[in-house]
Amino acid sequence: PFDVLVVGGGPAGAAAAIYAARKGIRTGVAAERFGGQVLDTMAIENFISVPYTEGPKLAAALEEHVKEYEADIMNLQRAVKLIPAADQGGDHEVEFESGARLKSKTLILSTGARWREMNVPGEAEYRNKGVAYCPHCDGPLFKGKRVAVIGGGNSGVEAAIDLAGIVGHVTLIEFMDEMRADAVLQKKLRSLPNVEIILGARTTEVNGDGTRVNGLTFEERASGEIKRLDLEGIFVQIGLVPNTEWLTDSSIELSPRGEIVIDERGMTSVPGIFAAGDVTTVPYKQIVIAMGEGSKAALGAFDYLIRH
Ligand code: FAD
Repeated sequence: PFDVLVVGGGPAGAAAAIYAARKGIRTGVAAERFGGQVLDTMAIENFISVPYTEGPKLAAALEEHVKEYEADIMNLQRAVKLIPAADQGGDHEVEFESGARLKSKTLILSTGARWREMNVPGEAEYRNKGVAYCPHCDGPLFKGKRVAVIGGGNSGVEAAIDLAGIVGHVTLIEFMDEMRADAVLQKKLRSLPNVEIILGARTTEVNGDGTRVNGLTFEERASGEIKRLDLEGIFVQIGLVPNTEWLTDSSIELSPRGEIVIDERGMTSVPGIFAAGDVTTVPYKQIVIAMGEGSKAALGAFDYLIRH
């Protein structure tokens, strides 16, 4: 068995693996997709001491840094079940989609989060046929075309600014009467000539011709009027969902939003099981925060190991 098994290979998981491996204990990292959300990110300008980097570059650097140590990296492994130790001091077990099972004295859960869906008719049907969630992955597919971005938070406004440089026209649709994004982003967005902003609008349907998206229907909330936009792409940017579905029948306490509840050392409600990053209740989901949290959870796990 491992001393520390990290599940998830984003910034939190990579930091946890490095901190654990540096203690000379048996460390493993299993991840569905090493790099995590960073892989879907283009410009990163708030990774402290690095004024500018790009997601794929940072993701590669994370993996390279982990590989400096004797940590066992298991990529493309999706955890489907967690079986906590029957008694304290026993091994916890994680089951993977591949059928593999791994045992460890402590666990660090860092499975991150993913974009929220609108759940309107047509969204699922036209996913990857015009409906997208990752502007950095799919933006170039809409070169010169008309797209909408749903959501006026930081991610929606960033996406709209990014897309405006690639596509022909962007319509940003925000449910509330104002955008929640940072003022500097809103200012930038409003300065762009090929962007329209529609506030107080509820998306009701993704329209298509059977093979691809060709429009979007929304309700003007104030008037109740239904309107339609002709376009080829819809980028959904309405928030993050923690990747904790695989934990629902474990005894790990989750918050009402499905996030793993942790204490100040990153320990969950089950002794010896820690968690870090976007998957937890930690406020503000960011790379530097996820890395700090991953490091903290690994030190917490080490502390736990030397006491048990
Ligand atoms: P994640 O990065 O989500 O990593 C989760 C890991 O767990 C992945 O390896 C995933 O494959 C794995 N995983 C998930 N489920 C399972 C499972 N069941 N079994 C096994 N493995 C699993 N932050 C910034 O600080 N600056 C930015 O500029 C910035 N821009 C962003 C832009 C975009 C488009 C996105 C999506 C995010 C951005 N963020 C930014 C947020 C930042 O990427 C996240 O806060 C950070 O990646 C969280 O790290 P994490 O390790 O907690 O989770």
